[in-house]
Amino acid sequence: MALIENTLKQIEKAAALMHLDPELKMILEEQMRVVEVSLPVRLDGGALKIFKGYRVQHNNFAGPFKGGIRFHQQVDLSEVKALATWMTMKCSVVGIPMGGGKGGVIVNPKELSEGELERLSRAYARAIAPIIGPFVDVPAPDVNTNPKIMSWMKDEYSKFVGRDCPGVITGKPVEDGGSVGRDTATAQGGIYVLDMLAEDQGINPAETTVFIQGYGNAGGVMAKLLREKGYVIKGVSDSRGGLVATGDGLGLDPEKISAIKAEKGSVTDAHGQAGFENTIICKDQEFLTSECDILILAALENQVTAENADKFRAKFIFELANGPVTPEADKILGAKGIMIVPDILANAGGVTVSYFEWYQNVNGEKWTYEQVQEKLIKIMQDAYKEVAANRDQHSCDMRTAAFITAMERLEKIWKGK
Ligand code: NAD
Repeated sequence: MALIENTLKQIEKAAALMHLDPELKMILEEQMRVVEVSLPVRLDGGALKIFKGYRVQHNNFAGPFKGGIRFHQQVDLSEVKALATWMTMKCSVVGIPMGGGKGGVIVNPKELSEGELERLSRAYARAIAPIIGPFVDVPAPDVNTNPKIMSWMKDEYSKFVGRDCPGVITGKPVEDGGSVGRDTATAQGGIYVLDMLAEDQGINPAETTVFIQGYGNAGGVMAKLLREKGYVIKGVSDSRGGLVATGDGLGLDPEKISAIKAEKGSVTDAHGQAGFENTIICKDQEFLTSECDILILAALENQVTAENADKFRAKFIFELANGPVTPEADKILGAKGIMIVPDILANAGGVTVSYFEWYQNVNGEKWTYEQVQEKLIKIMQDAYKEVAANRDQHSCDMRTAAFITAMERLEKIWKGK
């Protein structure tokens, strides 16, 4: 099923409970603007290849559209629309003055050389330049895009407008207008939310086992921060498979895993190496349905569906990825008593520090790491409290409560227009 259908079902459920203004609901069910671009890129061998990309601008009632750019072979328009809509909700849950947007290019970047990747990134920035800008639409990184790519895009946009324009894009390297703390913000925001959940649910890190699916910017950093807090990392996975610690003990050491992944390519390459003698490798479904306290989903969407939801054995599911659990799976997991901390709350730390970066850029400021953390923790804690209050008031799950929180804020803006 098209991913946007999942998003619409989530809106529908929350809208019914909170009696959302029907006109606003109609607006939120649509995208304000959808742009498809073709990107001619000269390959190293001399041939020209045309890639296809999208930029979707869902809603800007709260402020400029904001949302990452994904480079992936499975990108499709429905996915980008869903991700853009979730961005509107996410910005609204944490109450930052930004709207929702998203971009994507259909490409497997692992098949490109560095030069080809740069030419593709610049071509995409040129193609969407007429519809983005610091007060219009501010992109950021997502799956398979990173600070270096953001720098190339900023540079290309700056050429387009004829002046250096750092505020057009976030997630840049700190030395090129980025914010300290942006690289770890998604996971750090996740930790602040998890701390609230732990307080709420009586979770003791030292007695809590965690599995993490996806070991990139979100999942890899989360693993390190969780270990620092004393959680027991029992399993980590990436697109090549899962690595699971057998027996008791402190679990896997994320610092060592990151070093091995950086050198050899996958978390599974740690298996059998010094410090990882007591590990096994397992396939995706076996990994996901392992018994644990907290399962962190930090890879891609549609990981828990009507087909496999019944097999899940975690007590809590924490969505660092966007859209990893379908609405049908939500129902099955709910009936099994598995509590889900939804993406639009759990991973909102990323866009929050992206907003901080944009704010610093357009106001000529430079914040310290401490300033960033002080503001981030307050925003994440306040958001958690609001969502938990809506959960209790409406007797609903955390996802529906997060949508209610988001749409209440949008409704206030809408009624003020
Ligand atoms: P990334 O490209 O840095 O990492 C993705 C990871 O997922 C990689 O380790 C990849 O190997 C792994 N992966 C892919 N398919 C997998 C599979 N089937 N099983 C296990 N692992 C698999 O991307 P990221 O930035 O970490 O984003 C991950 C998720 O988090 C996405 O849904 C993204 O939208 C979401 N997210 C990211 C940010 C951010 O700031 N990076 C912010 C909010 C949400």
